[in-house]
Amino acid sequence: MLTIALSKGRILDDTLPLLAAAGIVPTENPDKSRKLIIPTTQDDVRLLIVRATDVPTYVEHGAADLGVAGKDVLLEYGGQGIYEPLDLRIALCKLMTAGAVGAPEPKGRLRVATKFVNVAKRYYAEQGRQVDIIKLYGSMELAPLVGLADKIIDVVDTGNTLRANGLEAQELIAHISSRLIVNKASMKMQHARIQELIDTLREAVEARHPR
Ligand code: AMP
Repeated sequence: MLTIALSKGRILDDTLPLLAAAGIVPTENPDKSRKLIIPTTQDDVRLLIVRATDVPTYVEHGAADLGVAGKDVLLEYGGQGIYEPLDLRIALCKLMTAGAVGAPEPKGRLRVATKFVNVAKRYYAEQGRQVDIIKLYGSMELAPLVGLADKIIDVVDTGNTLRANGLEAQELIAHISSRLIVNKASMKMQHARIQELIDTLREAVEARHPR
């Protein structure tokens, strides 16, 4: 049995056509179903529906053999036990700092609100900058508006959410796309099957999103 961990939303919507190209089609619509384990048209392949930030956890611990996770989630997770063999070139966005339009750089320690605490620590440590990181779980855009933080670090696609809140994107931290990830032990134990799937998915990615 091959188990693939996915999160609902953008990643699921963009991953299903790639899986379909590999002959893997869920037997129920994962967006509508309340089931968390979804069989597919291939008897030996099933999907697990998990939170986006939990995908690397399931894969690292071997509860899923494969998964699809955003590079933002992988950078924040930072685990050692995962291979990342394929860029699926879906769910593209940028991990950026953002602040209020026209706000001056604060004189003292910078206060940065984000759910990407590890990414933020690494980013400012590389710059030798002293910062206070404030962990949030969502609606980061609010923090600079109410004086909780000077800046945020968040993923930005169109920038509409930032603009709607009087914020502007500032520094680029990383270009983000979703990646196929594989448990290291699974890669050894089921090498032929997983490598075949990676190769088929790679062809589907090249066909759908040529460089
Ligand atoms: P935007 O198009 O910049 O207004 O993005 C809207 C919101 O969607 C952002 O605040 C992000 O939290 C989220 N978002 C956009 N693109 C992605 C992505 N590829 N992965 C995860 N979250 C995203």
